[in-house]
Amino acid sequence: MNKMATKIIYFTVNGRPEQAEFSVNCSSQDVKDLFRSAAEAGPHDILKLYNRKGNIINISSNLEPNNPNSCYKLEVVASGCNSEPLGVELAGALGFDLSSMEKRLQCLEKKILIEAGNTPAVIYEMKKQVDLFREKLESVEHLSWLGLFKDLSESTHKPSPFYHKRALHKTKDECEHVREKFLQMSCLEVSEEVRQYLKTPTFDNWQWEDAEIMVLLQVMYTDLDFIATYNIETEVLQQFLFEVYRRYNNIPFHNFKHCFCVTQMMYGLMWLTDLRRKMDSTDLLIMLTSAVCHDLDHTGYNNAYQINARTELALRYNDISPLENHHCAVAFEILEKKESNIFKNVTLDQYKRIREGIIKCILATDMTRHNEILSKFKSILSLFDFDNKEHKDVLMMILIKVSDISNEARPMEVAEPWLDCLLQEFYNQSDIEKLEGLPVTPFMDRDKITKPSSQTGFIRFVLLPLFIELANLFPCLEQQIVDPVRKALDYYTEMEKALAREKQDRAPCENAVKIKDIPVAQSTTDKRQSSGLDASKPDTQ
Ligand code: 5GP
Ligand code: MN
Repeated sequence: MNKMATKIIYFTVNGRPEQAEFSVNCSSQDVKDLFRSAAEAGPHDILKLYNRKGNIINISSNLEPNNPNSCYKLEVVASGCNSEPLGVELAGALGFDLSSMEKRLQCLEKKILIEAGNTPAVIYEMKKQVDLFREKLESVEHLSWLGLFKDLSESTHKPSPFYHKRALHKTKDECEHVREKFLQMSCLEVSEEVRQYLKTPTFDNWQWEDAEIMVLLQVMYTDLDFIATYNIETEVLQQFLFEVYRRYNNIPFHNFKHCFCVTQMMYGLMWLTDLRRKMDSTDLLIMLTSAVCHDLDHTGYNNAYQINARTELALRYNDISPLENHHCAVAFEILEKKESNIFKNVTLDQYKRIREGIIKCILATDMTRHNEILSKFKSILSLFDFDNKEHKDVLMMILIKVSDISNEARPMEVAEPWLDCLLQEFYNQSDIEKLEGLPVTPFMDRDKITKPSSQTGFIRFVLLPLFIELANLFPCLEQQIVDPVRKALDYYTEMEKALAREKQDRAPCENAVKIKDIPVAQSTTDKRQSSGLDASKPDTQ
């Protein structure tokens, strides 16, 4: 077989690591096109590729292969859309850009398919990005003048043939497949070793697929004795877990695996703090079920977006915790059906208490209430009384809040991929906010936020103050969850310093580029300042 020789180029674009694979005899134009697509650059944008020393290198087929440690950096040093206001020119450029990009990618894919036999991940990823971009443009009504808008409420919308993309909601086939697997697996006995591991904050969710996760959730209900205490029928619990699985969406962060992690941390905290001896079983049932349901049907856009975009949810709930109200309403929609009502055998009074508890816990996960809830907890901490209902209510809210934002308390190899997922969802929201002309949520802005900058502030000002207060009530948590969070803070502080050093080292070279190479009319904001253009002019991107 004649296998074509290829070379691999490692590079970063907007801080995001990428790798490209070229056949050794592809043309320079192919290489340029590929980098242009990776940078999401238009045909008139200027791209520069830097090596580790900060020197500019030529983007051509002669590009030296490198390795992840000698990664190149790709930058759009000037983009061609700030000299004109938004208008026909941009529309033309975008329209042309998109279809030509799609065509070029298709050609490239075809070529590589013939040569390599399969579509490399980098091409697949680029196709996904191009399609996502088209989808964004198509979904924004007031950008309809671009000629791309599609009214999704009409059934005429067909999925793009360009690549097979996953819809927000799970498909019937997807669900049925997982349900079958889950039911098959649930007959198997889960080992004692796994049952013990499940009680620890070091549990690695990434090793388990969704059907297995459903079995693990079933184990939690069993091992906390809920099945026996509340007379929960196995089929009803399984149908409940299936409905829950079905109503978490295909989004990067607020998905079924996040539901599991939050629930598993809650479960772990219950065992670590020996909570079964301190609170009654119904409180534990409320907390575990709240964790399971707390982000049901999240669409990947937070409350600020819901309110600013005046979504259906914001209108329905009058801007008051629209998401959390919705998660809770979906939970009770599931519980209203008798086939999935795990509380169907409890008394009316018990049901009322459980419903009130779940509502309280899920609504407490709205982060805009963080200070309010933490202050309340601090004020009762010195005289905390496990027999006082009000004290217990606040503790339940604190426990779900801690579980909800506990990724950084987990081992680094578990936590770090979660941060990538979170930033993917954040960046997606801010991209849409920019497209729709809505206020851009600052901590989601891909132009401002990096992995370390996102974590250092969050850990210092949100996570640690919360976790430390909980550890004041349960000192064993100091070692179990506070220490790992402190380590994560050190890790991201170091990463932040390294990035700052790298930026400083590159600065003189970047200045040289600005002065020598950038056409004045095509500069971006900061370059505009250095070239004397009006920096106050709003950015049109
Ligand atoms: P949730 O939306 O999951 O119910 O509430 C938790 C919110 O806290 C997330 O949406 C996100 O805004 C924030 N959050 C949780 N974990 C992290 C983290 O590790 N880093 C940052 N920067 N924010 C987080
Ligand atoms: Mn959550």
